[in-house]
Amino acid sequence: MVDLVSQYEKIKPSIDEAIQHVIQNAHFINGPAVNRFQLDLQEYLGVGHVIPCANGTDALQIAMMALGLKPGDEVITPSFTYIATTEVIALLHLVPVFVEVDPQTFCIDPKAIEAAITPKTKAIVPVHLYGQAANMNEIMKIARKNGLFVIEDSAQAIGSDYHLEDGRKVKTGTIGDIGCTSFFPSKNLGCYGDGGALCTNDAELAKKIRMIANHGQEQKYVHDVIGCNSRLDTIQAAVLHVKLRQLDNYIDARREVAAKYDEAFAGIPGVKIPFRADDSKHVFHQYTLILEDADRTALQDHLLEYEVPSMIYYPIPAHKQKMFSHFGSSELNLPTTDWLTERVISLPIHTEMLEEQQAYIIEQVQSFFNQH
Ligand SMILES: *Cc1c(COP(=O)(O)O)cnc(C)c1O
Repeated sequence: MVDLVSQYEKIKPSIDEAIQHVIQNAHFINGPAVNRFQLDLQEYLGVGHVIPCANGTDALQIAMMALGLKPGDEVITPSFTYIATTEVIALLHLVPVFVEVDPQTFCIDPKAIEAAITPKTKAIVPVHLYGQAANMNEIMKIARKNGLFVIEDSAQAIGSDYHLEDGRKVKTGTIGDIGCTSFFPSKNLGCYGDGGALCTNDAELAKKIRMIANHGQEQKYVHDVIGCNSRLDTIQAAVLHVKLRQLDNYIDARREVAAKYDEAFAGIPGVKIPFRADDSKHVFHQYTLILEDADRTALQDHLLEYEVPSMIYYPIPAHKQKMFSHFGSSELNLPTTDWLTERVISLPIHTEMLEEQQAYIIEQVQSFFNQH
């Protein structure tokens, strides 16, 4: 699905030097590269504060802790997402309230958010799924009207631009109270292990986040609040410092692959190519088709036979996972989520896709539809 080896080969000298530098100085924890990367990312995102942490799941958890959410508080989230988004809600003894997504964008449906608000609702966690932003203009209006926090899960959409109603163009993850992202190797900005970050424009909140990520301390051995140990390794920060300079090129490369797929698949009956929303620049973490009228398993088998990988993100929606059975969420009626779960399929997309590789993948997809 991705080609991280070829990507590394192209930036090998800078990466190797950056890693060697960390090792030779034994700056493994909180070395200078961490702060350097943090400042770079702040500038890239145009945000007041970036707080690096150990992974994207931690980022979400720390965000909910920093906002002071209490056991029993309800958090509205899509069911059609990676499990991490919803898992941390339950881990903190908050109540996940699963709602529908928009069938075109795959992202949380603002109307469904409004319908799910109760006196216990405290926060909304929109997920910018596959690399395209949720409808943040509407979501922020709903949040302000109802006094709710917004935590953006931007793990799949780092670098994506969003057009606010006031005309400003901002990066996804910088719109709500806190944005969370992941540097898992296959993410659009990936490191060589685990990594993550939070961002916010609120200085007080940034201070709290930093404390929580560091055992609840501001001053060494003085612990004011319950926290955790969530750091970005210096080696990972050094890798990210190099790779951040490539992020816009990486996004362009992904968008080029997506455009070629679009052209090849637009005319296939029963197949829907990814929708491009007006307000968001799609950064194509995934290229995901909807098979409105085609046998998905047969297509996957056909592709496998020709050694073309494909993936289903995600085969079981969160509300149907056993881990949430005590919330009774499997009884929920989320037809759009169920419909998408049964019909989406993601094809290989990455920054190093060669023209002939993509032509081969396209040929195999087309040959399936010519036979069926
Ligand atoms: C990857 C991902 C996460 C979690 O990130 P990790 O770094 O793997 O913990 C959270 N949410 C979404 C939508 C993701 O894709």
